[in-house]
Amino acid sequence: MADLGPSWNLRQFLSSFAALLFIPGPALSLICYCNPCHETHVNSTCVAKPLSKCFTAIEVTEENGQKVDIWTFGCLPPDESTLLQCKGDRVPHEKPQTIECCDDADQCNLDLQPTFLERATTLSPGYVPRTYDGYDESITQIALLVSVTLCLVILISTLIFVYLRYKRREMRRQQYLEEAEHCDTFIAADETLKHLIDASQSSGSGSGLPLLVQRTIAKQIRLVKSIGKGRYGEVWKGKWRGENVAVKVFFTTEEASWFRETEIYQTVLLRHDNILGFIAADIKGTGSWTQLFLITDYHENGSLYDYLQCHTINASEMMELSHSAICGLSHLHTEIFGTRGKPAIAHRDIKSKNILVKKNGSCCIADLGLAVKYVSESNEVDIAPNTRQGTKRYMSPEILEETINPTHFDAYKQGDMYSFGLVMWEIARRCVTSGIVEEPEVPYYDCLAMDPSFDEVKKVVSHDRRRPAIPNRWSGDETLKVMSKVMTECWTHHPAARLTSLRVKKTLGKMQETLENNLKI
Ligand code: ADP
Ligand code: MG
Repeated sequence: MADLGPSWNLRQFLSSFAALLFIPGPALSLICYCNPCHETHVNSTCVAKPLSKCFTAIEVTEENGQKVDIWTFGCLPPDESTLLQCKGDRVPHEKPQTIECCDDADQCNLDLQPTFLERATTLSPGYVPRTYDGYDESITQIALLVSVTLCLVILISTLIFVYLRYKRREMRRQQYLEEAEHCDTFIAADETLKHLIDASQSSGSGSGLPLLVQRTIAKQIRLVKSIGKGRYGEVWKGKWRGENVAVKVFFTTEEASWFRETEIYQTVLLRHDNILGFIAADIKGTGSWTQLFLITDYHENGSLYDYLQCHTINASEMMELSHSAICGLSHLHTEIFGTRGKPAIAHRDIKSKNILVKKNGSCCIADLGLAVKYVSESNEVDIAPNTRQGTKRYMSPEILEETINPTHFDAYKQGDMYSFGLVMWEIARRCVTSGIVEEPEVPYYDCLAMDPSFDEVKKVVSHDRRRPAIPNRWSGDETLKVMSKVMTECWTHHPAARLTSLRVKKTLGKMQETLENNLKI
């Protein structure tokens, strides 16, 4: 390899490195003395590009029969700096020419003394001839080599770091799965889900099946067909030993939603006829194909939204749907005191697609992925740590205006009541009186498009204070009259003026009772 000697300098190295990393060059550029100068050059200087050099050249011409040396100074274009152009007079020219280059200091070309080898004379007193041993190419090559090596070292270290992190996470997951693998528990062949759950309730654990049983059941479930798609996962009909179950498979990115919903379902004393029955939760798989399962009771009627699309109802069915739904919501909202009490829970995403219709015509509240818990003793609002938001169309004015106080638990319950008013309106539309019924519609269907933006809903609901229209025919029917009064009082603009779930439960309960008594007469 050529001797790098004194010609190796930091500027060359940095220039090469900067060029390699695509760093723009001005900070590393070299200023050269120029003569003659280009018209754009100032103060008899030009700026050499990164990797370029300053030069001094002499051309010998004949003037009046005499040989004259013409000196020129300037900046070489980068692509000429390292090649033969900087090699004295080795390149044959028509007229004798010689050139020398430098890049070790600004205006270094002022000190250059290019020589003619065959002249072997000094061009000025004290001139010491310099030779070129091809080091220029070597310098650039070395700089490049060092730069590439550096980049490779950084890249490899990053890869190792990422791999080790992945490996550690994977080991933890594997350990969890192995535990699940080896903790299979025996479930008698004639055991039913209902019996297992009833037994676990009376055993006092209170918050669902023991984990071991949950994982065993989850492993034995066979997915049959997809029945619904929400924003956070896909819901399947599944079979466990011939019994129907619903399996919500969360998107891998929705681990936080799975965790939250599972946690809420396992809340002590949550089990209620009008809250979707929780069976088990489990994680399957490794790495990027992890699957998160939530297994619940299966309801073949699907959501209230689906049900109202293809069913019209009579007054007593309407009361059953509305009353059972508010019973579920009221149970969620109510705090039960005692050592094994239940926290108050607000749903935060009440809508007809998150309420299911059971075979007996009653409803149950589903999709607890956004719920918030509250224990009055500690005055702690335990809000979901995920980024999920409720459904814009069903958001109350104060949520849309963003004036809700997130530490005030009652505010969430009041938000639920606003949404519940809209659900009651959806139900009432489908109640036939004197052969008349309205088409199934979502709230604000007449003033909001399919997937409205936050601001569009805000304008309609909060700014314009619009609410779903109450058809005239409703005032001619006792039950529908009560329904419209209740829903209107649920969706009032001021949260504190709204009816509570307990109040609605009582009013609708009484109405249902009256209706049944009238039917008996
Ligand atoms: P997401 O959190 O993705 O919104 P949901 O729990 O709301 O998921 O379920 C999405 C849809 O799947 C529901 O609107 C409903 O149509 C259907 N679904 C959910 N759970 C059940 C169930 N247990 N039985 C029958 N259908 C269900
Ligand atoms: Mg949902």
